[in-house]
This record gives sequence, C-alpha cells and structure tokens, in this order.
Amino acid sequence: MHDTTLNFGIERLSIGETATPLQYLPNLTKKLAGPKIYIKRDDCTGLAGGGNKVRKLQFLMADALEQGADTIITQGAIQSNHVRQTAAMCAVLGLQCHVLLEDRTGEGDAEFYANGNVFLSQLLGAHAEIYAGGTSMDQAMVHKAETLSASGAKPYIIPGGGSNSIGGLGYAAVAEELVNDAKKLGISLDHVVHATGSAGTQAGLVAGFHLLGVAQNVLGICVRFANEIQKNKVYTLSESILADLNSRLTQKAAQDAYLIQKSAEKLPTERVCVDDRFIGKGYGIPREDTIEAIKLFAQTEGLLLDPVYTGKGAAGLIQLVSEGHFSKDENVIFIHTGGAQSLGGFRQYFDFPEVPRKELA
Ligand SMILES: *Cc1c(COP(=O)(O)O)cnc(C)c1O
Repeated sequence: MHDTTLNFGIERLSIGETATPLQYLPNLTKKLAGPKIYIKRDDCTGLAGGGNKVRKLQFLMADALEQGADTIITQGAIQSNHVRQTAAMCAVLGLQCHVLLEDRTGEGDAEFYANGNVFLSQLLGAHAEIYAGGTSMDQAMVHKAETLSASGAKPYIIPGGGSNSIGGLGYAAVAEELVNDAKKLGISLDHVVHATGSAGTQAGLVAGFHLLGVAQNVLGICVRFANEIQKNKVYTLSESILADLNSRLTQKAAQDAYLIQKSAEKLPTERVCVDDRFIGKGYGIPREDTIEAIKLFAQTEGLLLDPVYTGKGAAGLIQLVSEGHFSKDENVIFIHTGGAQSLGGFRQYFDFPEVPRKELA
C-alpha cells in the first residue's frame, strides 16, 4: 500500500466528527459463531444524531459556501436521514434549508409522517414539503430553486443522499481512516460491508481504497435497487469521483503526481460487490429479518440500527455469515451508517406489547 494522505484538492469543513471508532463486537461475534465482527461507528459523526451524510456534507457544504449560497435545497424519502443531517449542517452554518420529502412507500401511520427524522428536521429549522411517490424530485428541486432565486435567495442544490462526485469524497476519506484504524488495532480489513442506497458511500469507499492502492472489495447490501442497477450506479459514481479528482489535481499548481496517476488508473469492476436479497417489498419497507437484525444488535451490543438501511444491511451480514460467505478467521467490518433517529416513525413494525400499568399494592 502507498503511504499517502489523500489530498482531494477541494475544501472540507471541520463540522462534525471524522475519526469515528472502529470497535470489535464480541457478543455478536460469539452469537453468530462466524468471523470476527467489527463496527465502524459512523453513527457517531456528531451532528444531530450523526450518520454517513455528515461525511459527504463536509465537502458539499464547503462547495456551497464557496459558491456564495445562502440557501440549501435537498430531497429524500419521508424518513430521510440525509435531510436531517443537511438541516443540522445548515443550522450550524446559518443557511436556510428547504427539504423536499418524497412519499416513496405511500404506507405509514401518523408517526411515520410526523415523528422521527421529520420531527427532527423541523426542530433543526428546515422547511419541509411532502411530494407524492414517483415525483421527479430532481425537477422538484430545480423548480424550488427557481422560486427561491426569484425572491432573491442564492440556492444550492444537494442531490438525494448527497451522492455525487463531491459528496462521495467523504467516504474516500473513510477508506483512508479505515486503513489507519486497522493498523492501530493490528487487524486486516478482510471484508467491508454496509447498506447501499444512493451509492455515494460505497462509491466513495471504492474510490478511496483505489487511490490508496489497496485492493479492497466493498460489499453493499442494497436497500432500493436490484444488483445490476446498483452495481452500475456505484461503479459509475466511483469513476466520476476519480475523474473529477484527477481534473482538479491536474489543474492545481501543486500537483500530486501519485494521486494524479492513481485517479487515472482503471478501476477494476470486481471492487464493487452488491447483494439485493434483503430489500423485500421495496425501499423503506422492513422485512421480518430487518426487524430481527435490529433487535439482535440492540440486545447483544446495545447498538441502535434503523429499519430502512442498517437493519437491512445487518440482515444481509447475518445471512452471509450463516451461508459461510466469510471464513472464521477473517474480520468483517460493518459500517454503521446511522439512521436510528427514524425508529420513532417505524414503531408499528415492532411487536412490543403496550407497557403494563401497575399500582403499588
Ligand atoms: C443514506 C444512508 C445509507 C446509504 O448510503 P448511500 O450513500 O445513500 O448509499 C445507509 N445508511 C443510512 C442510515 C443512511 O441514511
């Protein structure tokens, strides 16, 4: 591996934590009786509950400020964690925040539409609007930007999930962090697994490992799209992260010869692995094994997962362990991408009984 510090040729805000812990999970490892399971705590990125979007927003918000924006527009599903983290970042920076929420599933109780991330985004000062499932949300954001511009605002549009060649750099940085974490713990990164949706997390990781000269495959457990589509989305985004980095560094006076060369090197397609068996009926609709995985992580390790992303990711991890996909002497690094703040919107999927009322005899 090349001993390098990744230089992205672009500004990054130091809001929120980087350097999240990589922790061993002894109870879960014992319970599953498979490989050693480690967790990268990106649920601890520090802003309004944390999560993976803070990583991307550190780069995206720097770009927004550089372009003189005073208003941020973004979109997501009703219980979007990305929207919450964007609202938090806007609060810190004193920017107006407009969030467009797509009712993708069309199913949910009153809590789903008002509690969890919806409530938190409002609390953080965002202006929220709900659109019907199937609406072109990119178009809706452009329309919103036109309306706001007409009244004198300077809006900046952040794509869903913050997944573009700027946001993806957040996870290229995590690839470097993981390599250093592993060095500190004296372990090898045999497998890296996480939930993949808008593709920026996986694409960033894949691009980052590539730049570091580490031949690391990354396995994304799909939460929305089938294998072919997701693999293509991730690979294409990885390529554009590398291509845009290459052109930025080439234009800079102080050139980084190693990174210029690496970012121009062809990315092997096998670096991107996906598994779509855990989606169920669709995005945002938990399966039984999603709920079981959430309970297992909570009740063995005291860790809170979510029903849209990490619960499905963990269900995939558990199934792959039981299929013998990993050998017992290997380390599996599960990236906790956050999301527990949505749990309040999904209580109906958990079968806990009402808490009994007692009277002192
Ligand atoms: C957005 C999100 C993901 C998926 O990350 P992408 O970069 O969109 O693929 C995973 N977990 C949680 C909790 C998320 O909010």
